[in-house]
Amino acid sequence: MKDQYAVIGNPIGHSKSPTIHAMFANATRQDLVYTAILGPLGGFDACAREFRERGGRGLNITAPFKLDAFRFASKRSERAELAGAANALKFDGQDVLAENFDGVGLIRDVVHNLGFSLAGKRVLMLGAGGAARGALLPFLDQSPATLVIANRTLEKAQALANIGSTRGPVSASTYASLSGQSFDLIFNATSASLTGELPPVPPRAFGAGSLAYELAYGKKLTPFLRIAQNAGVSHIADGVGMLAEQAAEAFYWWRGVRPDTAEVIKVLAIPLE
Ligand code: NDP
Repeated sequence: MKDQYAVIGNPIGHSKSPTIHAMFANATRQDLVYTAILGPLGGFDACAREFRERGGRGLNITAPFKLDAFRFASKRSERAELAGAANALKFDGQDVLAENFDGVGLIRDVVHNLGFSLAGKRVLMLGAGGAARGALLPFLDQSPATLVIANRTLEKAQALANIGSTRGPVSASTYASLSGQSFDLIFNATSASLTGELPPVPPRAFGAGSLAYELAYGKKLTPFLRIAQNAGVSHIADGVGMLAEQAAEAFYWWRGVRPDTAEVIKVLAIPLE
């Protein structure tokens, strides 16, 4: 029987992961099957256990099960511990290993694919949810001059800043206190774009040569990207590269072979217009 992998979420019909992993397997000549599982709400553990008993080797995890997957694991990487969430599991003998590749995937896209360095830069992250948590440590590992986390609920940004404070220059902010500051790289890690909303970032926060990065993907020119463009930002990007890169990290973790992501990004990218 071929090695079995899957992505689990609810809903799951929109997931690009089966397409991405089929392309990776084809390009690297790995003999595996990758499917999508609609996990019943409240039923993650039973679903993951059943998949493992059927010979499953690994799972990608999407909303709303990232916290369930974290708890389900018997061993967790530092990245997963820090994020408090898992986006990939590996079934390894008796062990269930948890990883979180969202942040490293984001960094790989920004640094390798888009050619932006975070070193010595002023970085602003909007949002303090799961994706922001996953990005915290990988961001600080890039030695930015400063990392400011702005969130609607300030306490959540403060909790994240406290976690990161031993690793680098990170602080929490309200949106209002951003006024008068400008940044080299701004990341929208809020879920506002999923409902066509705009986090209240002041247009002056965007420096002229800066990068505006929308973690959501497939939404074309979101209100966040539009305000960045109007503010004269030179580069805008959405999260399709992050999606491909976190998938490549999981593939490498499971199979020991690193797939190239360029073709996947080309196939999945939707023009930002
Ligand atoms: P969470 O639900 O964990 O966090 C949502 C965050 O958005 C919170 O900080 C929340 O603030 C904030 N927020 C929501 N609505 C608004 C609004 N209208 N104005 C201002 N802030 C708002 O979501 P995730 O962290 O899981 O996902 C965040 C984004 O990242 C989504 O767009 C998701 O699609 C994307 N993503 C992309 C990935 C990729 O591979 N490209 C992977 C994972 C996520 P508060 O705390 O105040 O409620």
